[in-house]
Amino acid sequence: MSVTETTAKFPVYDVVILGAGYAGLMAALRLRKKRGQLRVALVNASDQFLERVRLQESIVAPVEPRIRSISAFLAGTNIEFLCGEVISMDADQRRVRIVSRGLELEIMFDEAIYALGSHVDVDSVPGAAEHAYRLEAAEGPRSPAALRTRLRENAGRPIRVVTVGGAETAIEVAGEIKTAWPNLEVTMVTRSRCGEFKGARVESAVCAALARLGVKMIDRETVAEVRSAVVYEKPTSLVKCDYVWKRTDRWINFPWSSLPPVVPGVLDA
Ligand SMILES: Cc1cc2nc3c(=O)[nH]c(=O)nc-3n(C[C@H](O)[C@H](O)[C@H](O)COP(=O)(O)OP(=O)(O)OC[C@H]3O[C@@H](n4cnc5c(N)ncnc54)[C@H](O)[C@@H]3O)c2cc1C
Repeated sequence: MSVTETTAKFPVYDVVILGAGYAGLMAALRLRKKRGQLRVALVNASDQFLERVRLQESIVAPVEPRIRSISAFLAGTNIEFLCGEVISMDADQRRVRIVSRGLELEIMFDEAIYALGSHVDVDSVPGAAEHAYRLEAAEGPRSPAALRTRLRENAGRPIRVVTVGGAETAIEVAGEIKTAWPNLEVTMVTRSRCGEFKGARVESAVCAALARLGVKMIDRETVAEVRSAVVYEKPTSLVKCDYVWKRTDRWINFPWSSLPPVVPGVLDA
């Protein structure tokens, strides 16, 4: 049955909470404690709680979830868990649409708490959507699990990993990968300075620790295009991939590029 063929109606809730991450689940628990009579709906794409702050660990090994099932966790409370994807919200009409198991459902509410979190932006940099791995919950060919598989399969080969960004997440990723697979070449590329998010002392300590691990840092470079996977290989005789970034108005192609040079200005339009 297609999503558009069937539309079911849900009752009106006093509060609907969109997203059961840290913010949404905490909001639900607070409402449960303080006002037990409220009818509360908690909507989330998955029944499993996503610990985003541990996603970088999942590059190395699967992370055992501390809450296996949100619905089981909330059983017996006034919180009704609805497992589905929020596809639209009409604040004036106080309605939310979700898709659950192929059915489109409509929820009505008096108050809504919007806690859907954020997504990695893969649309601003050409090629990132196709090639870059990202730390998100999604399954699929660019998920943390897919990256783990690729790194494990190629651990004994001259694999190079580029992390884009120089703040907390990228530092954690670079550290995790380099610690687990010391023979891999890990490079961080950042448009600011690596580790500069908490002042000079933290920056110096972070950079020293990364350098000890053998992580390379390229500061003040803005990634303008991703032409191959962020994880790529460079055997001596076979060039398979390329990675290009831009410094002010100057394009830099890695010498092992198998693609034609990027024409300045083409990607700026
Ligand atoms: C690798 C990594 C490490 C981090 N480390 C730290 C750290 O050490 N300390 C720190 O303070 N912060 C850290 N952060 C940031 C922190 O994870 C976020 O600030 C936090 O997760 C935000 O919580 P949230 O509840 O708003 O959103 P989220 O945790 O993203 O939860 C949103 C929920 O909504 C669901 N959802 C999204 N869209 C839909 C939809 N359309 N329909 C249904 N459900 C949907 C998602 O599945 C998810 O369950 C880290 C982030 C990452 C990626």
